[in-house]
Amino acid sequence: MSKIMPPAHPFDTSFLRDAEEDDKLKEECGVFGVIGVGDAANFVALGLHALQHRGQEAGGIVSHHPEHGFQSARRFGYVRDNFTSQKVMETLPGPLAIGHVRYSTTGSKGQTAIRDVQPFFGEFAMGGAAIAHNGNITNANALRRELIERGSIFQSSSDSECIIHLMARSLQRTIPERMEDALRRVEGAFSVVAMTRTKLIGVRDPLGVRPLVLGKVGEGWALSSETCALDIIGGEFIREIEPGEMVVITANGVESHFPFRPQKPRFCIFEHVYFSRPDSILGGRSVYETREAIGRELAKESPVEADLVCPVPDSGTPAAIGYSLASGIPYAMGIIRNQYMGRTFIEPTEQIRNMGVRLKLNVNRALIKGKRVILVDDSVVRGTTSRKIKEMILDAGAKEVHFRIASPPTAWPCFYGVDTPQREKLLAATMSEEEMRDHLQVDSLKFISLDGLYRAVGEADGRNSVQPQYCDACFSGEYPVEPADQIESGFEMKAAE
Ligand code: SF4
Repeated sequence: MSKIMPPAHPFDTSFLRDAEEDDKLKEECGVFGVIGVGDAANFVALGLHALQHRGQEAGGIVSHHPEHGFQSARRFGYVRDNFTSQKVMETLPGPLAIGHVRYSTTGSKGQTAIRDVQPFFGEFAMGGAAIAHNGNITNANALRRELIERGSIFQSSSDSECIIHLMARSLQRTIPERMEDALRRVEGAFSVVAMTRTKLIGVRDPLGVRPLVLGKVGEGWALSSETCALDIIGGEFIREIEPGEMVVITANGVESHFPFRPQKPRFCIFEHVYFSRPDSILGGRSVYETREAIGRELAKESPVEADLVCPVPDSGTPAAIGYSLASGIPYAMGIIRNQYMGRTFIEPTEQIRNMGVRLKLNVNRALIKGKRVILVDDSVVRGTTSRKIKEMILDAGAKEVHFRIASPPTAWPCFYGVDTPQREKLLAATMSEEEMRDHLQVDSLKFISLDGLYRAVGEADGRNSVQPQYCDACFSGEYPVEPADQIESGFEMKAAE
């Protein structure tokens, strides 16, 4: 007799990841913190809701109240399903709170355990502290081994927990000093939001790989992965936290330190292309405008005669608009996304599973029939989705399909807080542009050049003109921080030219 198996957990949407999302690079995590407002956790819940695109598997909030001490709630699933009820929010009182949304990049990938959900909390001799980390520690394996040998007992499989154990071993007097000490041992990418009983702390790694911004909210202050989360709480964007900067925020205001050896910043250029929300500001520029500029560059670099420019929604939309504006070819919503897919089929049948991409995307047939269509997408990772979308467009009667991609070929994995397939699974790691075109069976396929991408983010003379540089390792294979753990596990760096 066959047994009916329950889903892995109530939010198991892994079949959807198989269908479409496994073919995207996935950011990682979002962090948010507030000090100096009543019921700070409510602000944090709203901020995390705005950052949900940075992680959908799980979320957590820690708050502190002078009488009730530290409180925490960690849950699987969306913020809107977990941190909106009065019952939960009443358990998180106080004027100081931090939170985290997670897509697992380390730890139990794709099947987050509740023990891996941040913020993490540590009780030290001088008081408690909670931390939320966005990024990826590239020497976490070595640190973990060393810490375990010296007696640390790890509670999770997350790289971020190393920070708490390093803090516990530091001999410094205060928690911010211990955090500085701990983070000096850490390699890789980190944007950290942390809290003590009285302080909100924000730190960005010396390369500034992942974003972190400071905002003002009423009489209080906020730290956030992106500016869009400040907007939702009625906050004011003050400035980005500088690469290598630590800010310690109390009732008296914001103190700034630079505890690390200064290095040339290497901000993640893919944040501009795909990860950040289009209504956020990065490096003083609107993400939407940058994406539109990418589309314009792409139209200049790779023109083609066609009847329509259509985005692969939603992330391809601004670049498609830019392509249309620069080429004069009409823009049209040739593919429509079903926004509600993620909650519809909690226990999908085999038949539903096989529908794959069609569950989320549908072709606007009346528009497409008989047309030569340019499809603009943000990236090609494995190529499985691109191929299915092409089939859908041809089924709808398109005469020609031309792909234009708003990023250079993704040929290398990211080790700085983004979930990427192993290198051999990346289409661009094993095929030339022409081979990818033949593999996808499209009439043409063109990616924006690395120089074109740099021009679109505001560096007029392209990649080599830039001081400071960006991280573009997933395109160039030039890693700004040696990924020690991955090399130990057999990853081969690009040979020096
Ligand atoms: S490797 Fe790519 S995704 Fe990762 S930080 Fe660098 S640019 Fe961003």
